[in-house]
Amino acid sequence: MRGRVVVAGSFNQDFVWRVPRFNAPGQTQLGSFASGPGGKGSNQAIACARLGVTTTFIGALGEDAIAQQAIALMQAEGVDARWEGHPTLASGSAAIWIDAAGQNMIVVDPGANLALSAAHVEAQREAIAAARVVLTQHEIHPDATRRTLELAGEAGALRIHNPAPDVPADAAAPLALVDVLTPNESEFAALLRAHCGLDIDPDALHALADAELHALCRRLPPPSLVLTLGARGAFVSHADAGQDGGPCHRVPARAVDATDTTGAGDAFNGGLAVALAEGRAFADAVRFATAVAALQVQRPGAALAMPLRDEVERLQAEGQEAGTG
Ligand code: AMP
Repeated sequence: MRGRVVVAGSFNQDFVWRVPRFNAPGQTQLGSFASGPGGKGSNQAIACARLGVTTTFIGALGEDAIAQQAIALMQAEGVDARWEGHPTLASGSAAIWIDAAGQNMIVVDPGANLALSAAHVEAQREAIAAARVVLTQHEIHPDATRRTLELAGEAGALRIHNPAPDVPADAAAPLALVDVLTPNESEFAALLRAHCGLDIDPDALHALADAELHALCRRLPPPSLVLTLGARGAFVSHADAGQDGGPCHRVPARAVDATDTTGAGDAFNGGLAVALAEGRAFADAVRFATAVAALQVQRPGAALAMPLRDEVERLQAEGQEAGTG
């Protein structure tokens, strides 16, 4: 059965300029421009909908051209979007410059995203109660994230929290309300610092043995943790040693020609939410998420690069034949 997923999170319109090199102050130069939808919440919701699960998105917009585009996008993607309108605020936007070496400079105006209220989340209580999985991140007002996780807990939904981007401790979600935490290396290091006072260089995590990494994961409250490691794949750690896959295990990334890893984490989180909402065993759900992300990184863009269900199933079927599925 395909369960329902609710995502509470951000929508940003990304404005991307490619330039030979970054401007000096006062300098004007020619570059090429493209614009597309972004924001971790909406990327993850679109990933879920493309994977064929009934998806509700809770977000906030201003009353501007970006808002009209966001509303049309979610309709086109088949996402049931519950927007909170903020007439005096701008919709979220990001200005991104990318130079010839692929380095970027980014300015984000979260705008309406940070005004998403706990009351608006509360008004979506019925949708949250019908969800099997609820997915949150760190790009909206922390009160809204907290209320989403509280309502999800009351309803018995599985709460997946992607603690991205890294934010100050007072803006972070309460980890006691989270069932499955999905940080990347730097977010994991930041959480260990905030919660346990541990000072660990994110790069040093790669040298750790499974037992050491597992012990670090167990320092944080969520019973399950999926640490994403980019092209190195993911490390899974459970408090319950009887979980599928044992107390901890690794799932390697797929060897693909990654051309744009923007949104890889969002693809992974969307895939994980869908697979767990369908009742798959945990290790199998992480393999599904890995396949979703592998397809996404081979295409340019974030939300619009999310794969369709058929593509993921085809990739997994090929992998099974080759013994890597
Ligand atoms: P990240 O947020 O960068 O840790 O990436 C999330 C997930 O996306 C990883 O756990 C991988 O499964 C996948 N991924 C990221 N980068 C790559 C890559 N270069 N090649 C294949 N898969 C990737």
